[in-house]
Amino acid sequence: MSEPGRGPQRRAELAAALDRVRARVAAAEQAAGRRAGSVTLVVVTKTFPASDVVLLADLGVREVGESREPEAGEKARACAGLPLRWHQVGQVQTRRAGAVAAWADVVHSVDRPRLVAALSRAVEGRGAPLACLVQVSLDPEAAGDPGRDPGVGPGRGGAPPSAVSALADQVAGAPGLELAGVMGLAPLGEDPSPAFARLQEVAERVLADHPGAGVVSAGMSGDLEAAVAHGATVVRVGSAILGTRPRGD
Ligand SMILES: *Cc1c(COP(=O)(O)O)cnc(C)c1O
Repeated sequence: MSEPGRGPQRRAELAAALDRVRARVAAAEQAAGRRAGSVTLVVVTKTFPASDVVLLADLGVREVGESREPEAGEKARACAGLPLRWHQVGQVQTRRAGAVAAWADVVHSVDRPRLVAALSRAVEGRGAPLACLVQVSLDPEAAGDPGRDPGVGPGRGGAPPSAVSALADQVAGAPGLELAGVMGLAPLGEDPSPAFARLQEVAERVLADHPGAGVVSAGMSGDLEAAVAHGATVVRVGSAILGTRPRGD
């Protein structure tokens, strides 16, 4: 893959990749018997330059995802004025809650009580509420271990399923935060379908308690079809649109 550039060539590359991904989402909706347009595409632009975000916005993208500070905040500021909604899809350190709240419209990765409290404090005084998704750990071992300290260790993050309803209640009751739904990442190197099925069950329980919280954020470049088959309303796609990232992201 060539270096991301600014010119017409990069625009054409992004346009073609975006078309392919939109077609995959449409085919997955149809295969699952779901309404066309029922799945929202968040384009994850982490590690790619603001110039790509500008091109994507021009190609009709309205939802973009980022994951790391200070890159995310700098990019969002560079793109201020574009009609974009900014999603924090990666893990948030508690001490970074203020930095994230400065640019994010949606946080997908709320997975522990301390982070709820920190985000709520951080949005105090800002006009718009911060939409939050409770990240559910889909690691099989998390299912039976409510004592595990989420957000710590080498996993992919997320609260164990048994901790989700209390956390959802906490978000719903926190000033400045709005509970929008749940998010999950399939475990690496496994069939994603059983994991997304577990997420769907948790999502149904959360929705039963909180009728406004129907977002299910699941599925990435490699597994969006499985996620849509299991009720994802939001897919987060990076590399299939922007190209491969350096390893470790
Ligand atoms: C990077 C990232 C994505 C996008 O992953 P791709 O495989 O590049 O599509 C989605 N979700 C989260 C949480 C990410 O960190």
